[in-house]
Amino acid sequence: MTQETGGFAALDLHPNIVAAVIATGYEEPSAIQQQSIPIILAGHDMIGQAQTGTGKTAAFALPILNRIDPAKREPQALILAPTRELALQVATAFETYAKQMPGVTVVAVYGGAPMGPQLKAIRNGAQIVVATPGRLCDHLRRDEKVLATVNHLVLDEADEMLKLGFMDDLEVIFKAMPESRQTVLFSATLPQSIRAIAERHLKDPKHVKIQSKTQTVTAIEQAHLLVHADQKTSAVLSLLEVEDFDALIMFVRTKQATLDLASALEAKGYKAAALNGDIAQNQRERVIDSLKDGRLDIVVATDVAARGLDVPRITHVFNVDMPYDPESYVHRIGRTGRAGREGRALLLVTPRERRMLQVIERVTGQKVAEVRLPDSQAVLDARIKKLTNSLAPLVADAEASHGDLLDRLTADIGCTPRALAAALLRKATNGQALTLAAIEKERPLVPNSAPRGDRADRPSGDRPDRGDRERRAPMPLAEGRARCRTALGARDGIAAKNLLGAILNEGGLAREAIGRIQVRDSFSLVELPEDGLERLLAKLKDTRVAGKQLKLRRYRED
Ligand code: ADP
Ligand code: MG
Repeated sequence: MTQETGGFAALDLHPNIVAAVIATGYEEPSAIQQQSIPIILAGHDMIGQAQTGTGKTAAFALPILNRIDPAKREPQALILAPTRELALQVATAFETYAKQMPGVTVVAVYGGAPMGPQLKAIRNGAQIVVATPGRLCDHLRRDEKVLATVNHLVLDEADEMLKLGFMDDLEVIFKAMPESRQTVLFSATLPQSIRAIAERHLKDPKHVKIQSKTQTVTAIEQAHLLVHADQKTSAVLSLLEVEDFDALIMFVRTKQATLDLASALEAKGYKAAALNGDIAQNQRERVIDSLKDGRLDIVVATDVAARGLDVPRITHVFNVDMPYDPESYVHRIGRTGRAGREGRALLLVTPRERRMLQVIERVTGQKVAEVRLPDSQAVLDARIKKLTNSLAPLVADAEASHGDLLDRLTADIGCTPRALAAALLRKATNGQALTLAAIEKERPLVPNSAPRGDRADRPSGDRPDRGDRERRAPMPLAEGRARCRTALGARDGIAAKNLLGAILNEGGLAREAIGRIQVRDSFSLVELPEDGLERLLAKLKDTRVAGKQLKLRRYRED
């Protein structure tokens, strides 16, 4: 590419724009700038996809500045941003890049500030309007002509705008602009909702996609663990026992979850802290610095708060809550495996989230292997290994410094060295369980009882307030058995013996051929032989139980 040597000067931008950019200290256009600027300059509609921090602002701001007419004192370009902060950032960037373009003015339009001055600035002829969708709609309600002269529209961080619920506002804004306008959309991710907008409102858009380095996940070993939502904290604690980590980041969905999980970890003696959007910026930086230098080992974060976090010490990423889309999964696990090191990523999956797991596997092109919770033996082994590792280096010179003391103490106490060493170990390990029996007693989870069912498969008529046991997914199936389901349940007056009787009589099976029968409120599950299942189900087609059709079907869990 010729631009590689020519830098910004080779991009066909106005010399005054290039000069301003170079004055800000930029040397080379970034990849998204390199590819987007010529397209936008040529007047095409465009969809640009690139992660945060790739330089998207200049990618649209420079060519847009190039395309407006400074002599015309009317709004010509509209940039929509999801939040007030981002709108201000973009407006400031425009001002910087327009420093050597006399007559160009920029107005930022956002909520929480009086509307009057904003409208005045627009009427006074600001060519660039940077706005949040909500406030802009307020202006449109007062004056539907505000956008009548705007020929360039940029949707910045389109995915974030939709997440914030601006869909309807966007539609209002599209309508208030000339059809002939140029429309450019930038987004870190392209979920279906964004593609739909692009389809309706962009004309033959060119696509630019910057594959960020986090998209390659080969250096990261990935695994998932099936777990019920209410078991996540204990699952995390069990995993931490056996995972050999240096620093670790855990992702959850809510601010509250960052606080809850971080304090559960602290209570177990881990050096952990929460990182969320409510925490002031300088405090967040302190948390990240602590993670870098080892004062912290675990950070529990929301996606937003962890944006841009780059700590080479991170060996593990725990996705405690499922990410919202595969892209953010890739983004999250890219926090580990930095600088060519190996990383490990674990994903906790509740039964109803297993479809998302499949989507992630498809998008990353990789299988995310299933792991089980460590059993008590594994926990014991890991604890003993840690103890061994911490004591081994001390053995070499301890006898020289403390050997005589040991002799004296055993003599004074009147015990064997073995008894004394055992007492010291008990003290040093602070009451930690170090036998199988003790570990089994302290562990709240039955290992390897990963849930198998899918709550999403619950018929919608189910009452949501059933007991916990009722909500639990069924147990793993025995070899050679298939699970079948009928919509008849306890509320239809069905008991297990009715089902058993009907299937034995009409199906002609031996009692041993039928596995477990679970009767729930609004449905029942029966384990039947896989072999010859179709024939059996056909035989049972017209079977009635308690006056109702049995309609037994194979039960697919996903
Ligand atoms: P994005 O919108 O993709 O998250 P920004 O446009 O906010 O990224 O840019 C991220 C940072 O990179 C900003 O501080 C910006 O000034 C800087 N930047 C953008 N382009 C360049 C460049 N070509 N050279 C150096 N720094 C740049
Ligand atoms: Mg941006």
